Amino acid sequence: MSTYHYFILLDYDETIANTFRQNRNGIDVTQAYQIACDQIFGCRIFEQVGGLKNRTPGELVATILSAENEHVLTNAHNYLDKKNGENLGEHIQFVQDADLIELLVSAKLELLMAQIGTPCHDDSLWPNPCPGFVDLWKAMATFNERHSKVKLVPEIVSSGHDLFIKKCFKLWGLSEPTLMVTDDTMRSIACNHLLAEERRKPHIGPVRILCAQWLEQQGIVNSDDPISCIQGRGFYGGDCLRMDGQLAMNLKLPFFWFNPEGKNLESINKQNGRIVHVRNWQKVVNLLLVSEKAADMMMTGIPFSEMVDNLFPS
Ligand SMILES: [Mg+2]
Repeated sequence: MSTYHYFILLDYDETIANTFRQNRNGIDVTQAYQIACDQIFGCRIFEQVGGLKNRTPGELVATILSAENEHVLTNAHNYLDKKNGENLGEHIQFVQDADLIELLVSAKLELLMAQIGTPCHDDSLWPNPCPGFVDLWKAMATFNERHSKVKLVPEIVSSGHDLFIKKCFKLWGLSEPTLMVTDDTMRSIACNHLLAEERRKPHIGPVRILCAQWLEQQGIVNSDDPISCIQGRGFYGGDCLRMDGQLAMNLKLPFFWFNPEGKNLESINKQNGRIVHVRNWQKVVNLLLVSEKAADMMMTGIPFSEMVDNLFPS
């Protein structure tokens, strides 16, 4: 009898962590982007390009460069001069968008890393884990200890950053995620062969890289497309119906819509594919991870979509 692996694919921002809620310093991810963009490219540029809108650093820089503001590059040079305390900037040619993306990422990350563990308005520490997530993470580890014929593989797909995510898990007293694909992966040389749209959601490119990472960890040599290791076993969970929901559809996996405020699906374009509403991750702990029925079903290796209606009746 073989061991079946079920892939628990999760977005990060507002799915695992409340990073879009400001702490007592008035900082959240959006604010950090705004401050970094304005510092580097000039005042109010972030507002001019319409804010973050779930974009990656690369997409944001591309939009800023196309905003037809001739001061943007001069401002970036001045920013470098100020940062280095000497007239260095004008000698540096920003030959590629990539240089500007790195500048933006490092400025934003420096700001955000310093905020981890600082107080929120209610005295809890920033950023809060999303409701039920701490239990979900611990329950997946317990599940794997209890079962040998079925294993869960938690994986994170995010346009955030490795160091930030790891530091948050440490703050919450959780074991570090070992499988993640973030904007850091997508900016790396290893992904140079991918087109820009293949590096971001809702394209399956990031998940393909995760699958390759997992196969390597397992010591499995596979000549097929790495993504074929999923075989419908798993789900994708995220808070953005448009991006995350589309990615789940592209992966042909059920979409677990993390929707703590219970937004109404009727007002949003209905899409094909199965959607499970999750207001609190505790629901998944109760119905999937501590239920013997779920474990028994997974031991037969059936696709997750065939279990969903039974386990999560709508
Ligand atoms: Mg999100």
